[in-house]
Amino acid sequence: MAVRVVTVNRRNKIGGLERFFVPAIAKAFVVAMGHFFRNLKSFAAGKKVAILTQYPEECVDYADAFRGMPVLVQLDDGRPRCVACGLCEFACPSDCITIVPGELEGKGIERYPEVFDFDLSRCMFCGLCEEACPEEAIVMSREVELATTDRSRLLFHKEQLLVPQILLKRRLEFLRGEYDRARADMNRETQ
Ligand code: SF4
Ligand code: SF4
Repeated sequence: MAVRVVTVNRRNKIGGLERFFVPAIAKAFVVAMGHFFRNLKSFAAGKKVAILTQYPEECVDYADAFRGMPVLVQLDDGRPRCVACGLCEFACPSDCITIVPGELEGKGIERYPEVFDFDLSRCMFCGLCEEACPEEAIVMSREVELATTDRSRLLFHKEQLLVPQILLKRRLEFLRGEYDRARADMNRETQ
């Protein structure tokens, strides 16, 4: 993916009010009051409250770019799409991933992960494993309900990580769109 450099304009001097966040607090207050009165109006009219989501009964539909827990893409025949190349393991800055490769004889895919362990307690949901994968075999899911009081439950094995590719369709399509955009950007830059 092409790297974009964003220059942030920082003013060297800020005024007294800004130093104490007064404009930002006032702005936040106006936004909060706007939501409050809009909801109050909907409530008074007997309509569904516009802004609130009654979690956990209701869930928001996360954006396609949302990054939840990384999972492994499962092919229709039940096998992981992963070819155990180890790039995600190498790219992960938190050492979350442990792969032991195995070999398949007489199949289209020659290598597969005999072991694919993922330590969620170390993961920071950065998505670098997903970016590094040449096979679209590990992707960021929408799974975020992961809280536990037992650390041992945060170690996931291959079987627990596999998710049928049909359920990951939106994320896979989003990634392909991103790759296409990055490729178009690169082509423009080289022209
Ligand atoms: S999301 Fe980031 S921290 Fe988590 S496994 Fe992937 S590369 Fe590692
Ligand atoms: S980078 Fe992709 S193909 Fe390679 S080991 Fe990781 S998940 Fe498997």
